[in-house]
Amino acid sequence: MPSDEKQKHMVFPRHVLVGNGVLDRVGETIADLELETNGIIVVDSNTRKLVGDRVQASLRQAGLVGHFYESSGPTMTSVQAAIKAGRKVGAHWYIGAGGGSVIDVAKLAAFEHGPAFLSLPTSASHDGICSGRASIKETRGSVSMEAKPPAAIVADTEIISKAPFRMLAAGSADVISNLTAVLDWKLAHRLKDEEYSSFAAVLAKTAADQILENKQLIRPGIEEAAWLVVKSLVVSGVSMAVAGNSRPASGAEHLFGHAIDRLAPGPMHGETVGVGTVLMMHLHGGDWQMIRDALREIGAPTTAKELGVPPKKMIEALTTCHSLRPERYTILGESGLTKEAAQKLCKATAVL
Ligand code: ZN
Repeated sequence: MPSDEKQKHMVFPRHVLVGNGVLDRVGETIADLELETNGIIVVDSNTRKLVGDRVQASLRQAGLVGHFYESSGPTMTSVQAAIKAGRKVGAHWYIGAGGGSVIDVAKLAAFEHGPAFLSLPTSASHDGICSGRASIKETRGSVSMEAKPPAAIVADTEIISKAPFRMLAAGSADVISNLTAVLDWKLAHRLKDEEYSSFAAVLAKTAADQILENKQLIRPGIEEAAWLVVKSLVVSGVSMAVAGNSRPASGAEHLFGHAIDRLAPGPMHGETVGVGTVLMMHLHGGDWQMIRDALREIGAPTTAKELGVPPKKMIEALTTCHSLRPERYTILGESGLTKEAAQKLCKATAVL
């Protein structure tokens, strides 16, 4: 029997629109959520040109008024400016229309200001398009913060398939990383009695399997590829909503990715966690070759060289990343890898 203290609060998006031309339905989606008239459309200079007019036209058609806020990057300064813009017009919703960082600014502004957040991704490079977490840049690197989960996701596959293919490959790798994240979660459950949800784990694993089973479809310029990756990212997001945290989609491979972000910034989030997945799957004794081959086929990096990370930084990331988030128990244990073990691991997986 569950104890009296046991409570669970899951927040899911009410509308998920994926497909060709769904961008033109953003207005009716907000109307259907019964939100009030005024809101903010967070964009950057590129995405404003790319989708700004169509978003405005769709909002007007639904009798809504959107005000642009052009984000200068994923920083708290930008978030505060977005909130200020929202307060000025009495915003009841924030649309994040753009890539990961625009979406992060919008979801944090919505979280701090109170209104609803709508995710309108123009690329699909990581599972932030449908999560309640945001990554914000600080002087010491990126930090993950609690943010507003999306009330709706409007993912136009025509637009997403025209974004640079590197982003879609990175998004695929971020979904594949669920495989090691789930193994780490199970380990923490066994060793530390951490709460585990098999529903959430199955969802996260299914999303990764969908990418692996259909990897031959993930090719540049193919709208079906955008479909597949977006839907898998959404299921990944739902797995986190079921878990109530990021466990099903973030384990040691993400710790490694965050360490690289700090030590050798440059590669995309999905790219570093993809390489991290190969490494951590080797530590788990799982089929790391299958993961490496799939990443290769998709066109995501599988080596330090392809990531553009110097060998020294790779080893430093591997030996230190366990300490970035001590409460998140993973295959790296409490003391992490020794230098020698890290070197052997990189050699065994041909990452170095
Ligand atoms: Zn991720």
